[in-house]
Amino acid sequence: MRIVLLGAPGSGKGTQAKKLMADRNIPQVSTGDMLREAVAAGTRFGLKAKSVMDAGNLVPDEVVLGIISERLSQPDAADGFILDGFPRTRKQAGDLEELLDQMGTPLDTAVLMDVDFEILMKRLTGRRTCSLTGKLLNVYFSPQQELDACTSAGGELIQREDDNEETIRNRLEVYRENTEPLIEYYGKRDKLTTIDAEGAIDEVYERLLAALD
Ligand code: AMP
Repeated sequence: MRIVLLGAPGSGKGTQAKKLMADRNIPQVSTGDMLREAVAAGTRFGLKAKSVMDAGNLVPDEVVLGIISERLSQPDAADGFILDGFPRTRKQAGDLEELLDQMGTPLDTAVLMDVDFEILMKRLTGRRTCSLTGKLLNVYFSPQQELDACTSAGGELIQREDDNEETIRNRLEVYRENTEPLIEYYGKRDKLTTIDAEGAIDEVYERLLAALD
């Protein structure tokens, strides 16, 4: 199964991709995660990407295409993959189509995860990671006892550097301008399925599975 998860920042692509990865045994390929790894590794390229990411802007298309083509040629992606956060521009979508054509493994479907703007803002501004367990939490939506469990065990609730309000507004604007046109792109190719991505994680996951079957 080769799928693209399409949706605004905060629509839950990463969360759902991880669940699907565990169930179907195909890798989640997240350009955001791979870029953050490069930043953490402190390479020269990582340092350059960091300022772009901190501002909520897009890393150049050629850079992400390079990362993606290398990643998709790894053996664990031979039987399928879940693309999370890629493609994000019309150019990236075209390049992906070309790459998959060359590999003889066309995309099965692009799933649009639809979430209301106000909910996106709360999901993003409230998003935290527990420094001890790596668990994703949200100060608005997670049960208080889960938040307390992290801090009382000595952990910290860490906010992603690009999850501050100013950067979030820009990321959503960048999404509207650059990524939303991909809805039409995949619609025209008859590859688009839209799911309601509001509500509990497990409910959304059920809708995702129904859309894929
Ligand atoms: P994400 O974790 O998907 O929200 O991505 C975090 C940041 O990484 C984005 O705001 C961009 O700066 C960068 N990024 C991730 N994926 C892409 C992509 N496909 N094209 C350009 N920039 C990207």
